[in-house]
Amino acid sequence: MALRDFSHDLSALALNTAMLGHNLDGHGQGWSPERVIDACAERGFGGVVFWRREIGDRAIEIGDRVRAAGMDVVGLCRTPYLVGSDAPDTLDEARTSVDMAAALGAKVLTIVSGGTEPGTKGVRESQKLLAERIAQLAEHAAACGVNLALEPLNPMFGGNRSCVFSVRDALEVCDTVGADNVGIAVDVYHVWWDTTLADSLKSAGQGRILGYHLCDWLENTTDMLLDRGMMGDGVADLKAIRSAVEGAGYSGACEVEIFSERNWWQREPGEVLDVIVKRFREDS
Ligand code: ZN
Repeated sequence: MALRDFSHDLSALALNTAMLGHNLDGHGQGWSPERVIDACAERGFGGVVFWRREIGDRAIEIGDRVRAAGMDVVGLCRTPYLVGSDAPDTLDEARTSVDMAAALGAKVLTIVSGGTEPGTKGVRESQKLLAERIAQLAEHAAACGVNLALEPLNPMFGGNRSCVFSVRDALEVCDTVGADNVGIAVDVYHVWWDTTLADSLKSAGQGRILGYHLCDWLENTTDMLLDRGMMGDGVADLKAIRSAVEGAGYSGACEVEIFSERNWWQREPGEVLDVIVKRFREDS
């Protein structure tokens, strides 16, 4: 199957606002959602993905603004952790995040699972509990027209952030949940090392892949959270990964999400967006 050709078509390109440092205090150049929307629209992006902290009580307004600019709200990041010691005691905040996604008109709400549940070891027990909690949340999400995308994280985020590290395990959790509006998000940063990726994705049911996140893995990564690379600057085989994702039936947005404290977050956002467009056309 031929890869989608992005050299003259940016409609699949989406900006995750974390790219501009917007999800962490004291980082980035502080652009408002409106300014980000206009700058993306000007360059022909197809969509934007926001973080909850930027939205506040303005979900409807910001969603409308994106659509008025001719783009989609591709997604919202993210639910609170659902398991692990940092997960809230109830699903209330998770339900509120679903409501925000619905008000924004976001197609997908991302789930980062949270780490190993206190009192357990390894990941299996936590994954079981995670599936139960996602199933509960999925009912509310379905009533709101929101899809939930479980994102497996690179294994180095085990312990406190995630208990799901591979596409294979994420799909297994989805199968346990068994809801039509629950699938996975595939992020280059988290899956680039996985030689079983293409086979795992092939086994995904129709419509299970709900998101594709772009960046690159730098040969010398200096910070596991905040040193992601721009497409083309690293060692991830981006074409092979996208080929596996598209080969499994995904034809949605490619969301550029690069946490980069010392490089991209230091730069002028307009320049960053221009580089994204170029690298998306040529290197993704
Ligand atoms: Zn991601």
